[in-house]
Amino acid sequence: MSGYSALMELECSKTGEIFPADSLHNLSPAGAPLLARYDLEAAARTLRPGALADRRADMWRYHELLPAPSAEAVVSLGEGMTPLLEAPRLGAGLGLGRLYIKDEGKNPTGSFKARGMSAAVSMARLLGAGKIAVPTAGNAGGAAAAYAARAGLEAHIFVPADAPAVHKAECVLAGAKVTEVRGTIYHCGALVARRGAGEGWFDLSTFKEPYRAEGKKTMAFELFEQLNEELPDAIVYPTGGGTGLVAMWKAFGEMEAIGWIGSERPRMISVQAEGCAPLVRALEAGWDEATLWENPTTRVSGLRAPKVLADTLCLEAIRESGGTAAAVPDEAMFEAQREAGAAEGVPVCPEGAACVAALRTLRERGAVDADERIVMFNTATALKYADMAAVDCPIVDPLPEQEETG
Ligand SMILES: *Cc1c(COP(=O)(O)O)cnc(C)c1O
Repeated sequence: MSGYSALMELECSKTGEIFPADSLHNLSPAGAPLLARYDLEAAARTLRPGALADRRADMWRYHELLPAPSAEAVVSLGEGMTPLLEAPRLGAGLGLGRLYIKDEGKNPTGSFKARGMSAAVSMARLLGAGKIAVPTAGNAGGAAAAYAARAGLEAHIFVPADAPAVHKAECVLAGAKVTEVRGTIYHCGALVARRGAGEGWFDLSTFKEPYRAEGKKTMAFELFEQLNEELPDAIVYPTGGGTGLVAMWKAFGEMEAIGWIGSERPRMISVQAEGCAPLVRALEAGWDEATLWENPTTRVSGLRAPKVLADTLCLEAIRESGGTAAAVPDEAMFEAQREAGAAEGVPVCPEGAACVAALRTLRERGAVDADERIVMFNTATALKYADMAAVDCPIVDPLPEQEETG
């Protein structure tokens, strides 16, 4: 443990077994995600809201509750501290008086995957990994490639062949070795697992290492700072692997332990695509686990995660918070993308737009109230999905020359 970070150890999320944090780890021997545990008393001494004003304006301002043991160990591109934007016009259209957009598209590589990869790649380099590998639906690969390049590590990215072109291009431009796979992120993950051991790759798959969640946890700290030391009533979050959901829930527990908040929690509302909704299905059926979603049909890459490794943790967070889940069709997401863009000027990705579509349904079924403070996450910038947007505008010829000059 250092003064910079209060990290102590890793805990198996299934059995509670403890592991030292001074070496590289993937899943626990029980096959479950490992969670980072901190000396929260030590962290509470210096990590106080009043002490944050002078700190660096990125997610590492919360370094006591992040894993890197020193500022020198941090691999950073300026991730985090994204704007929390009021969205009055979009809110009015949905019957919501206090809607906010946490615009994660402002992160390096254009998505909130930057937060997780900054933390995970920092620790991978520190603990001696030379090569990293990651299966990705799109955004995780771009972030892994960029942070690996920043750290001087070799990156191997496995991406579905039908992922958005921009996502693949940014991996190539960051010098990563990219393999396209005729399948989903699930099939990409199996390839990384099969080939990784022989190749000496450290596997950065969602929840297969402990620190991507730690990076994403900082979204919760930022909400608290940006809402003047309060939390919203509800958080609406487009859920694929569930990293952000689980991570923010973990953060609220840590925030209570260091005296920032009491026992109150925002309701965690998970949004998935109708064509791939393993968590919504499990929640509605009353299951404690989510089963594999066979043949996912959604085109929206960030939501095409048929197997949720941290399923129990996600379902716990939703249920314990008094939250809920909703599934929306792809078409509603593409429509809501335009609705949000036209109402607020925020380039909302299809995954973020899923929150808008879901909020309309949730408002109708009384799951959210008009005067509640609601934060929806725009998890990436619309620009990364440019090739999916239908651009249907008129094309005309230029004016004849004499008219143009006369
Ligand atoms: C990865 C991703 C998600 C899902 O994130 P999780 O925290 O793993 O559930 C949502 N939206 C976008 C744009 C993503 O890239």
